[in-house]
Amino acid sequence: MLYDIIVIGGGPSGLNCAHKLSQAGLNVLVFDKCSKIGENKICTGIVGIEAFQRFQLSKDSILNEIRNIRIISPYGSLIEYKHPSILAYVVDREKFDAYLAHLALSKGAQMKSKSEVITIDVSEEQVKVIAREQGVLRVYCAKVAVLATGVNFKFNKMLKLGLPEDFLYGVNAHANIKGIDTTTIHIGNSLAPGAFTWITPIKDGWVRIGLMAKKHPRFYFKKFCEMVSNSNGPLDIASVGYKPIAQGLVSKTCTDRVIAVGETAGQVKTTTGGGIYYGLLCSEIAVQVILKAFKKNSFNASAFSEYEELWKKKIGNEIKTGYYMRKMYSKLTDWQIEQLFHIAKSNGLLSFIEKRMEFDWHRNLLLSLIQTTPIGRFFSKIIQ
Ligand SMILES: Cc1cc2nc3c(=O)[nH]c(=O)nc-3n(C[C@H](O)[C@H](O)[C@H](O)COP(=O)(O)OP(=O)(O)OC[C@H]3O[C@@H](n4cnc5c(N)ncnc54)[C@H](O)[C@@H]3O)c2cc1C
Repeated sequence: MLYDIIVIGGGPSGLNCAHKLSQAGLNVLVFDKCSKIGENKICTGIVGIEAFQRFQLSKDSILNEIRNIRIISPYGSLIEYKHPSILAYVVDREKFDAYLAHLALSKGAQMKSKSEVITIDVSEEQVKVIAREQGVLRVYCAKVAVLATGVNFKFNKMLKLGLPEDFLYGVNAHANIKGIDTTTIHIGNSLAPGAFTWITPIKDGWVRIGLMAKKHPRFYFKKFCEMVSNSNGPLDIASVGYKPIAQGLVSKTCTDRVIAVGETAGQVKTTTGGGIYYGLLCSEIAVQVILKAFKKNSFNASAFSEYEELWKKKIGNEIKTGYYMRKMYSKLTDWQIEQLFHIAKSNGLLSFIEKRMEFDWHRNLLLSLIQTTPIGRFFSKIIQ
């Protein structure tokens, strides 16, 4: 049988494509190597309010809301950011993804879990996919394949697509601890070089705890947990997962009969590492372009090149600016981070930030901080 679309990867980006393409009447088959959609995702599950307003997302998956954030400097100074309304929700990733799968299934998509795609072969007529299903290799064919494999870049290499410029290393765990009622972020090289740690409360002492760092995530996570239990008492950790996080713009995200979406295409906020919303936004663009290609019955690289253009127009500058700022930040010593922290606390900068703060869009805020506030002067001294 020749499917219209094969989606490889049942995360939010692939599932949203499957939902919208089936809704448009295409014949869609989704593969995921896990035994259950959304299972064991290494993710804190923070999704901004804008994503909930824009997409049909599972309200049942919401575990808590985030309004306030405490940021703690390398030397223990505190900034408390209080947002006037809800900034984001913390979701249960399994329920969140399962709902997107339910939407796709309700529009007629077929789904194969425990099916790992091991090779893709693109010819003029079709895309041939070989999947391993309970030890047996099976062949499936489609007119178009959507690559949505998260941080698995095997097919990017196989199909000569681009790769992320860089990676951060992420850790997330579920834990029980007393006394944390606000999302708390620690910055500094001694806990998370190049990025930050977080603790996000859920309910009854349960929190999501994790970090992103440019190296040695296991070492830094152990150190961070020790620090937390020294100040808050015993930390009961339920599960710990480690995973890289894509950083920077991917040069090429489509080719003949294939479009890459989500983290596979580097569609991740380079400031925070959050990828769910950008993946959803770009999967919508992929759907538009694929539907146009079906109307014209043309699936070559030039029919899909509009996808590359449109998604980069939407989030390309966000990715580039965030990545540049992250690289600058990762050069700072703890003492310099402390100075930056004190600049941010003074000069009315917190109300400046509050007025411009958008959970998913950081470029305008970063540029206006650099161009119009003492933070710009601070960085220009460092660069010299
Ligand atoms: C520690 C950590 C914390 C994070 N916290 C957040 C957060 O709070 N908010 C946020 O927005 N983002 C967060 N992220 C990032 C977020 O998890 C990803 O950006 C997001 O899941 C990407 O969605 P996706 O659909 O592109 O891929 P994924 O959700 O990764 O889905 C890819 C799917 O493809 C499947 N797959 C891969 N290879 C194959 C194959 N060969 N055959 C079949 N199936 C395959 C996998 O099983 C998987 O289900 C975090 C990441 C980490 C590491």
